[in-house]
Parts: sequence; C-alpha cells; structure tokens
Amino acid sequence: MEEKVKQLASRLAEIADITNAQALLNWDQLTNMPNGGAEARGRQLATLAKISHDLSVAPELGQLIEDLLPYADTLPDTSQEAAMIRVAKKDYDRETRIPGEFVGKITEHISNTYMKWVEARAQNNFELVRPALETTLELSREASSFFPEAAHVADPLIDISDNGMTVGIIRPLFSDLRKELVPIMQAITSQAPAEDACIKQYFPEDDQIAFGEKVIRAMGYDFERGRQDRSAHPFTTRFSINDVRITTRVKSDDFLEAFFSTTHEAGHAMYEQGIDQALEGSNLASGTSAGVHESQSRLWENVVSRGKPFWECYYPQLQEIFPSQFGNVSMDTFYRAINKVQRSLIRTDADEVTYNLHVMIRFDLEIDMLEEKLEVRHLPEAWNERYRSDLGVLPASDAEGCMQDVHWYGGLIGGAFQGYTLGNILSGLFYGKALEAHPDIPEQIRQGKFDVLHGWLKDNIYAHGRKFEAPELIQRVTGSSMTTAPYLAYLKAKFGELYQI
Ligand code: ZN
Repeated sequence: MEEKVKQLASRLAEIADITNAQALLNWDQLTNMPNGGAEARGRQLATLAKISHDLSVAPELGQLIEDLLPYADTLPDTSQEAAMIRVAKKDYDRETRIPGEFVGKITEHISNTYMKWVEARAQNNFELVRPALETTLELSREASSFFPEAAHVADPLIDISDNGMTVGIIRPLFSDLRKELVPIMQAITSQAPAEDACIKQYFPEDDQIAFGEKVIRAMGYDFERGRQDRSAHPFTTRFSINDVRITTRVKSDDFLEAFFSTTHEAGHAMYEQGIDQALEGSNLASGTSAGVHESQSRLWENVVSRGKPFWECYYPQLQEIFPSQFGNVSMDTFYRAINKVQRSLIRTDADEVTYNLHVMIRFDLEIDMLEEKLEVRHLPEAWNERYRSDLGVLPASDAEGCMQDVHWYGGLIGGAFQGYTLGNILSGLFYGKALEAHPDIPEQIRQGKFDVLHGWLKDNIYAHGRKFEAPELIQRVTGSSMTTAPYLAYLKAKFGELYQI
C-alpha cells in the first residue's frame, strides 16, 4: 500500500504542477503580458488545460484511487494520507462523470451566451439573450443529472466551489439572515446617508499602494512568499504555498478601491500561505471551499480593516500620509464614510449590510429556475419584484437588473453565488471563536498587532488546506454546525452603534 500511496502522490503532484503553470500564465496575462502575446497565450493555456485534463481522468489514476480507498478507511480521521485519497476520489469522479462531449458542448454554448449577453446588455434587450439562457438552464440541469445521488438539483453545482455544502444546509441559513437583515437595512437607510466626500478626493496612487502594503505586511501577508501587482480586477492566485500573489486596482479619486481590495485579497492569500508545509505539492494544498476562502477575505477586509480598533491605530498614520485630504477630517467622519450603508441596484458596489441581500436574491432565483418553479422568460419580473421587496429599489432597466452580473451568462446557472454570503456568515462565526479564545484581540488590533488573530486562524483553519470539507471544518472549529447568530450579532453591534438603532 505504501508504494501505491507514493504513486498516487506523484501523479497528483504532476497534475498540481501543470495546474500551477496554467495559473502562472494566467497571472502574467492579467498583469504584465503585452497585448501582442494574447494569441500565443491562449494556445499555451489550451495545451496545458488538455494535458491536465488527460492526467486527471487517466484510468490508471482511477484504479490507484479505487485500490487505496479501503486502506484510507483504516487510517485515523485526521490522517493526511486518508484525506489525500478521499479528495482524489472526489476530484476524479467530478472529472470523469461529466462526459467530455458534454463539457465541449457547455464550453461552446457559454462562450456564445457571453457574447449575446454583452449585446443584450448594451441594448437593454433581455429577449436577445433569453433563448441562450434557457439552454443554459437545461444544460445546468443536465450537468447536475450526472450526480443522481444528490438530494437537490443544485447540490452538484454548489459542490463544485463549496464542497460539502447543500441547498439543505444553505436555504435555512439564508432565510434566517434575510429576515434579520431587511429590517436592519430599513432602519439604517431611513436616516440621512453618511457623508463620504472625504474619501472621494485626490489620492496619489503610489501613496495608496504603499499604505496598503504596509498594513497587510503588519497583518501577516508574507512578501517573501508573495507580491502585489496591479490588474483590471483584483484577484489572488497561487503556484505553491510559498508563492501566493495578489493584485489590486487603484483609483486616484477613491480611497476605498485600492485599500479594501488589498486587505480583501491579502485575506485570501494569508489563507493559502498559512497551509501546512507538509501539504505542499499535494491535492490538499489549497483552501477548502469558496465560502471558507471568502470568510478570510471578508474577515480581514470588513471585520478587521473596516473596524474601529483598526483605525484607532491607523487613522493617525493615514492623516500623516494624506495631510491635505484627512488633516481636518475627524476619525468619526472617516469611520462613518468607509461604513456607509445605502440601498443600491448593483451587487458589486454594495456595502457590508446590503451585500448579502443582493447575493440571496440571486441564490433564490437560481434555485427557483433549477427547480422549474421560475421560467427564464419571467426572470426580469421576478428579479425586479425581489429588489423591490428586499432592497426597496426598482431597476430602471434589465441591464441594471437581471443582466448586471456575468455569472449566469458566463457559466452554468447554480453554484456561483452562495459562497459570497456563506463567507460573510463564516467570517462572523470564526471571528467570534477567535475572540472566545483571545478576548484581547480588539485591543491588540488597536495597537497594530495582528499575530494572535492571524496565529489562531492559521492553526484552526489555514493549516488544514483541503483536508476537511467546509461543514467538517466548521464543526471542528466551532464544535457545532453553521449558524448565522455570531455574524448577525457582529453586524448589529457595529451598525447599531454607528446608526443608533
Ligand atoms: Zn474574495
């Protein structure tokens, strides 16, 4: 068996090497590559994708996994070998159960749908993209049908990014959250909006970058094993536990853009950098799910760097860097400006309170479509109705309504949105647990010290990589299943104080 475990590890390491090489070419394409390189790069990426696919579905790999499964069952729960074998089994099944021909059909359909969506959105004409979206819905249901053991049609689609999560787990959580969030949002937005002119001034770009990098270095992002570059959309990518890179986007007239994308991406990156070195090169050497990943970006971005203790430490420093912009702005005015809450139509511009409402609207609508309770032709009305009831706003057009997000038009319907809100809920849950273990964390943050929080997250979450699926990891960290209570308590405490509600 030991020989077979070695063979499996070596096959998985080969797949990881190819995948990481793809990621590096992608990173280069989005940060440094001259436009002239586009055609060759597309070809190179397609070649690597083919090689990694062939390696991932090799019958010899499948046989090796089958041979090792009984052995995995004899190992302790926490064994790295057992986790490697089980995760390999799940990845292999996912790669092999969806026929190659079907994948080809989806890929071609999605690229056509994407182009139709660009056109339909520009002309504000949903009818142009409707037939394509109907086909996407059919294909999404078909993709799910390759996993007949699933309890809900959306479960296999959710499982792709949020391993182990199901509609059965998510639906009650979201319904709890929505019930509580709508009245909080209403109470806040019935007041005069926070004044935020102070963060919309001119800020030299290099100074913004330097400040953000100083902060994330203090938080624990390791520049010896990472770097930050600029790109059109901020992202985190990794080629090894010891090479985890982030990007940011800077606007010289908006302080929020670069700073909060930097702390957000650093949260993702610290997760990847914090994985146990023993997992390097294996199939366990990455974050466990989209939701747990997002919990870390949100924790560092929102809970820490949009929090009062953080700015009690850093605001005087920010005033020194930008004396003409912030010299006469009080800490309170600044704090209110970066935590402004408002009703809005566009998810990606939403604040900490309303963001989840946007996500849950999409989640509910895609579940309704997958369950065939909502027909695609009725999507625009259903969308508008939910925006009216949940956020109290009505899109003036479908372009800023159901056609605003690329997700359904650049992928399958189902599985793309839940991770954002699961991440927010988990950020509150994990931070609450860290506070139970170390009640002085806010005081430490006030002094610019993050090592106790970072160390706790590393030991309890980051180190495990993909060893445990999200529900099991949550159980291990919190001793119970997932609940919205700590996240809601966090939101109520913070925004209750800000808005006196
Ligand atoms: Zn993120």
